[in-house]
Amino acid sequence: MIRINNISFSYQEFDMDNELNPGDRELVSVAREAVLHAYAPYSKFRVGAAIRLESGTIVRGTNVENAASPSGICAERNALSNAISNHSNDKPVAIAIAAMAEEELTDNPIPPCGNCRQVIAEEESRTGNHIRIILSGKKKTFVIESISGLLPLQFNLNNFKTNLP
Ligand SMILES: [Zn+2]
Repeated sequence: MIRINNISFSYQEFDMDNELNPGDRELVSVAREAVLHAYAPYSKFRVGAAIRLESGTIVRGTNVENAASPSGICAERNALSNAISNHSNDKPVAIAIAAMAEEELTDNPIPPCGNCRQVIAEEESRTGNHIRIILSGKKKTFVIESISGLLPLQFNLNNFKTNLP
C-alpha cells in the first residue's frame, strides 16, 4: 500500500515589531545588537542570535567566519554552544535571529541554515522543550513555535532506536 502524506506547519507573521509580545521584542533587540559584533569579513553578511533560557537569562551569538571557510560558524550554533557551555541546566525556550547586509538590517527574516536546524532540533530533543524561533526582519517577523516546523522528519537517533522492531 502506498500512502501520500502531507506535512504542513503554521507560523505567525508580524508587520510591526511592536506587535510582538514584550519578551520576543526584547530578544529581537538583543539579536540585533549582537549583529554588530559579528565577524564576517568575507561574506559581509552579519548575523546575530539571542537565546532566552528558562531562567530568563539571555545569551547571544554571532556568526564568526574564517579564511578557511569550513572553520566558520553560524550565529545560531554559536549562541546555542554558548548556552550549553555556560548554562547546561538552563533550557533554551526561544531564539531570535537578525541579520545585516550592507550595513542594514535585512527587510525580510533570514531562516536558519540546515546545519543550525539540525542542532536546534537536537537541543529540543535533549531538553524536551520546544524552542520558539523568532526570525526578525525590518519589514516583517516570523514566529515559529518549534523547530519541527522547519525540519520535519528530522534525524534523531532516539527515533531510530525506538522504531526498531
Ligand atoms: Zn546556520
